[in-house]
This record gives sequence, C-alpha cells and structure tokens, in this order.
Amino acid sequence: MFIAAVGAAFVETFLQNTVKNRELTPMERATLANLYENTYCLSLRFKVSYNYRLRQSHSNLIKELQNLRNYTEITERLKNLELPIKLAGNVHGDENISYPIHQIHLASSTDTSHPVLITGGVHGDEPAGVEAVLQFLERDNTARLKQFSFTIIPCINPYGYVHETRETRNDIDINRSFETDNVPEVAIVKKALRQTQFAFAIDFHEDYEATGFYLYEGKRDEKYIGPQLATAAKAIGPVDPEDTDKEAPNYVEGVYKVATEWGTEGLAPYLLHFHSKHVIISETPTVWQLERRATLHLTILDTALDIISEMNEN
Ligand SMILES: [Zn+2]
Repeated sequence: MFIAAVGAAFVETFLQNTVKNRELTPMERATLANLYENTYCLSLRFKVSYNYRLRQSHSNLIKELQNLRNYTEITERLKNLELPIKLAGNVHGDENISYPIHQIHLASSTDTSHPVLITGGVHGDEPAGVEAVLQFLERDNTARLKQFSFTIIPCINPYGYVHETRETRNDIDINRSFETDNVPEVAIVKKALRQTQFAFAIDFHEDYEATGFYLYEGKRDEKYIGPQLATAAKAIGPVDPEDTDKEAPNYVEGVYKVATEWGTEGLAPYLLHFHSKHVIISETPTVWQLERRATLHLTILDTALDIISEMNEN
C-alpha cells in the first residue's frame, strides 16, 4: 500500500509539474508506465486493498500512459471536415493492421492558383506537424484558395505516429529514404506528388532537444524569405540558440539553408530538386505545448503564403 501510494504520489506530482507544460517523451512514458504497473502489480500480489477509486485511477493511468496514439482519431477528424479525402496508400502495421495515408486536395473552382504542398508526420514521434496540418484543414481557407491550391498529406508515417517512433515499422527514417523506391511510405508520397510542380512546399517537424524554433529554407532563385518568417515566428517563441548544423549553416538567426550536401534523401531536398522551387522545413521544440508548436508551424506557413501572394501581385 505504502509503495503504491508513494508511486502514485510521485507519478501524479510528476504529471502535474512536468507534463502539463509539455508532452511526455516516449522514454518518459515507458518509464512511468512501468513504474505505475509495478506498483499496481505489487499491490495486487500482496492483496493490498487500497480503495477502489485509487485502483481505478491507477489502472486508467497505466492504460493512458501505455496508450498508443490513436490514428483513427486523425482519420475521423479528416472525415468530419467533409473534404475530398483520397487514399494515397496503405502501410502495414503489426499483425493485420494497416494504416491509410491520406491525401487532400484543396482548390477553388476557378483554379488560377499556385500549387502548395503541406506535409506532416514524416517522423512519427513529432505529432505537432500532424496537428498543424489538421488545424489548417479545419479552418476556413476560402480567401487563400483565391490564390493557392493545396496538396496536403497530414501524416506520412502513421505507423510511427501510432507507436511514437521517428522511423517506420522497418526502422527506416523516411526523411533519409527519398533516393530509394523500396520504402512503402516514400513510394506512396512519390505517387501522390505525380508530376506536380509546386510553387511552395512546407514540411512540419519538431526537435526533442531544441528550446526554440528554427527552420530550413531552400529556394532555387535564392531570394530567401526566411528572415521574415523568423521575425513572424518570434511572436510565438524564441529562436533555438543552438547552432550545430555544420552542413547547413544559418544565414540569419534561426534560419538554415537546405544543404546541397544532403542530396535528395530528405523529403524537402527531394522536393526542391524535383517538385518545388521553394521549400521550408519548420522545426518546433517538443518542450513547448502541442498547441503552441502547432501555432508556430501555422504562423510560418501563413507568413510564407502572405509573402508569396504579395510577390505574385507585384
Ligand atoms: Zn523530424
């Protein structure tokens, strides 16, 4: 009883103090689930009859901590939008489970527009990108559709999303695999892109070690808009102070160039080479709350669209 109570108190204090400010990392989640389960099992083994409510809350918390992210919820949120959702392809999960990769095309009927690509969830343990894409779809984009059309893939790595892993089920980092054709997720994305040439593409990520945001920009004409994006994003939070990426030096605080050394293994460099004259990778720190991370992504996207539409008018 004592151990269970101490365990519960510890976990609850931890949850209150830490987790309210950010999401648990997969490691913390596993540790807490273990701790909780052990104290729970211990109390059962010794037939400690701590009260029903506490036991219930224990068992719920174990479930919650162990709970895999729910991809069905993503699918439901998309379906609720009554937008034309296309099945880009299915990827296999464990046993007989398979996960759909969704693709949405938004365009006004009078399509004189600049095509834009928005992607999230390439790394499964970075849910803020998926959330940002969903929030983008859930809002009214009528005004935007006068100038742009959108191809949107909310979650490229559903297996990773569900299991909170960066990689796919086969331990493949999708963002290092665009030079190959044998990774199902990559093949699905390539098929979804068809021969489309985009005016702009943005890929949403997050960083577990960063304390602020940063972004990468690639632009064929090198007329960069990164400084303006960084300025706008500072309204949401600070720039990450670390500057460790030697391959992609920053050309202004918080903005790095998509490095030619990367080749075309990553989604954004692949797009820049084959599909889009302008790409952005937006990185939010996981230490921020999910809502704030999603807002950061959307701020960068909206600022970019504002700038691009202004340039188109001139
Ligand atoms: Zn990432």
